[in-house]
Amino acid sequence: MALARLSSIPLELQYLASKELGPSDLLALSHVSTYWRAFVLSDKRWTEWFAMIISTSEETFEQCLTRFNIIDMFSKRKLVYLCLHDWCAVCDGYAQYLYLPHMKRVCAKCLEDDEFTVLPFSAALAKYDLREREVAGVLTLESSRTGSKRSQKLVSESHVRKIAILNWGSESTLLSYLEHKKAAAARSTYTERSEDYRTAVSTREALQEKGNLAAADAVVLARTGRKIPKAFPAYPPILLPARPVERRVVCFEPKPMFEVGGEVMYDESDDDDEGEHLGLGGAAPEIQKIDTYGRPHVYAFPFLLFLLSVRHIFYTYFAVVFTGTTFHSFGVP
Ligand SMILES: [Zn+2]
Repeated sequence: MALARLSSIPLELQYLASKELGPSDLLALSHVSTYWRAFVLSDKRWTEWFAMIISTSEETFEQCLTRFNIIDMFSKRKLVYLCLHDWCAVCDGYAQYLYLPHMKRVCAKCLEDDEFTVLPFSAALAKYDLREREVAGVLTLESSRTGSKRSQKLVSESHVRKIAILNWGSESTLLSYLEHKKAAAARSTYTERSEDYRTAVSTREALQEKGNLAAADAVVLARTGRKIPKAFPAYPPILLPARPVERRVVCFEPKPMFEVGGEVMYDESDDDDEGEHLGLGGAAPEIQKIDTYGRPHVYAFPFLLFLLSVRHIFYTYFAVVFTGTTFHSFGVP
């Protein structure tokens, strides 16, 4: 009933009231009904807020996501939400980074967990003996290597590992399969091929020393009957150690932002700190002190004023609908 009355407010009033809501409250409102969801999604401010997001090294979020070729993979609402809510997805502490392969906020300490290992795409496939089509749904990031124009595809190891475990039913089955596969690759392909290569090359050299060049040219590999290749047989990829990539390469470090009323802002005072917060200390900026409403203490007064504004209409009605729940418990859509 309360919802029906809320929706019965004239459209102009609904519009004006929604302008007083920031991203967090808008997201909460979008969970109320399909009508309000459509209303919230049509709000053009999501694009404006997204365009405002900038890293501590002054790269915009849009530039960063374009650089990794993942710009179209996430809704702007979710990205805005993640940049405003900086608690670590693992430990709940202050999370300096946004880890892009999982699109999660992570603190510097938790970023060192195995969960966040980053591998080159081909190395991850070789390590878990998977084909490209099997990992089609995994988020891959394209990163240009330093000193090279070619880009390298990067992937979260835990994502690839999960697919491999699903394929084999359990982690222990996967591990024993991989051990068996590695032993087989070493035995049947690499060891035999390299032995074959060495034997053929020494036979050829012996014939060349005797001056029998025609016979030397005719020497072939015993296993395949093919000509001796120019290079020593390549090491099977599954036997190569997968070298992880520096994980901060695939992180975005948003400049701390906060919400006041319907506005999103930066803590400009930090700019005078000679860049102390630029990923060097890891301490949470003062603005991140959160009270029970999920808002910085310093904004308690504007927040009270704000409650007296037209927004109280929403709170009054929603409190009835969602007894015992707060807006901030809804999370991302
Ligand atoms: Zn953490």
